[in-house]
Amino acid sequence: MGKYTLPELPYAYDALEPHIDAKTMEIHHTKHHQAYTDKLNAALEKCSSDIQNKDILEILGNIDQVPEDQKGAINFNGGGYDNHKLFWHNMKANGGGEPGGALADAINTSFGNFADFKTKFSSTTAVLQGSGWGWLVYNPSSSKVEYTKMPNQTSPRTKGLVPLLGLDVWEHAYYLKYQNKRPDYIAAWWNVVNWDEVDSRLSKAK
Ligand code: MN
Repeated sequence: MGKYTLPELPYAYDALEPHIDAKTMEIHHTKHHQAYTDKLNAALEKCSSDIQNKDILEILGNIDQVPEDQKGAINFNGGGYDNHKLFWHNMKANGGGEPGGALADAINTSFGNFADFKTKFSSTTAVLQGSGWGWLVYNPSSSKVEYTKMPNQTSPRTKGLVPLLGLDVWEHAYYLKYQNKRPDYIAAWWNVVNWDEVDSRLSKAK
């Protein structure tokens, strides 16, 4: 067995209905997240023990230290492993609404207000070309939160950013229910955002 195993979902597959359907959640978790996990393990097995002994978060944060022949595979599958782990937990049944406390303050400082943040996040992620993720991240250099979009499964950690809230806009995340209507999926997704989890990630990042 490899170093990493598929993390369990913190809720049932149908918990996010009607916004994200049970079948999509089941396939996304048991097939896609499983595949990233398996391929991360396979890539790590081809690395030296000094890489194998590091935690994946440390590896992603220093991706240039991975040998060239496995760098692409670990960037993609290690990112896929970690991104999805974050994604499941930054959603919950009966989520949504607006954040409070320190997270609300940080969003207001960077984006003006919550509505403007939500508009920027939604509209920029909706037009991301191909497959990728929209993220609210914490930038340790500026001590501020920022929006960033990342291609494919590349983790924000590879850019020195701390992921706080991720939105998967690969077609596998929404196509069964929303087909080509990515903006409708994004609009529905706000109803399941777990702001307590995002706030907790921000306090740990600071
Ligand atoms: Mn995905």
